[in-house]
Amino acid sequence: MNTPFVSLVGAGPGDPDLLTVRALKRIEAADVVLADDLIDPRVLALVRGRLLRVGKRGGCISTDQHFIHALMIKEARAGHRVVRLKGGDPFVFGRGGEEVDALREAGIEVEVVSGLTSGIAGPAAVGIPVTDRRASPGVILVTGHPGEGRTEPDWAALARTGLTLVIYMGVARAAHITAQLLAAGLRADLPAAIVSAAHTAQQRHAVTTLADLPACIAREGLKSPSLLVVGEVAAMAAIEGLSVGVQQSA
Ligand code: SAH
Repeated sequence: MNTPFVSLVGAGPGDPDLLTVRALKRIEAADVVLADDLIDPRVLALVRGRLLRVGKRGGCISTDQHFIHALMIKEARAGHRVVRLKGGDPFVFGRGGEEVDALREAGIEVEVVSGLTSGIAGPAAVGIPVTDRRASPGVILVTGHPGEGRTEPDWAALARTGLTLVIYMGVARAAHITAQLLAAGLRADLPAAIVSAAHTAQQRHAVTTLADLPACIAREGLKSPSLLVVGEVAAMAAIEGLSVGVQQSA
């Protein structure tokens, strides 16, 4: 029998055209695919083996994560080709590291197939470059929802860098995050954008100012999954074909 093996595969942000060639090969060859919630239905349609939906929308309960580990280990030990399919990139806010640890501890070989992370491909879908030498020499990818009992990002320190902030899982806490960034001295009229369900059929976005960000999210009814982009680059969003108008900074 082959050595038990699991591929941790990044599915990218949505559109299957954005899968890597390696991701597509792994998905098609898998006997069993354990897929997260956020995977686009068009990507799931590529699965030929058994498809197990193991997502846990919004939840962070560790038993669920342990259940996923146990299931991967069981399937791999049974000699099945196992793909653990995750939205975006498995190592960007995807608990990929935890899953690799659990598999290695169980003596199971694991490979990581990188995917396009939504925090870069999402803004790009609406014309926002996360770095631009005329506007921002770097980008910080950060979670707005560190999870129960985990340390909140030091928003003041992040604000001081002057780099683009791309905030994952930030919609529900946008008011809090915005307040922290403003208190740290970021300009009220600094451009900010929300990109929702990027590269899916439901893609929408809005461009506004930092001070208006929470109100804009409410006004436009934008929901998770969304990225918040804070920084001058947000103003570079393409205007043509927008579902939501561009609000000029004051
Ligand atoms: N590993 C994923 C991130 C998982 S965390 C990646 O690399 O993209 C889940 C968060 O990612 C969501 O709350 C949202 O902030 C973001 N996200 C994932 N897919 C998205 C999409 N298609 N459009 C916008 N945001 C997305």
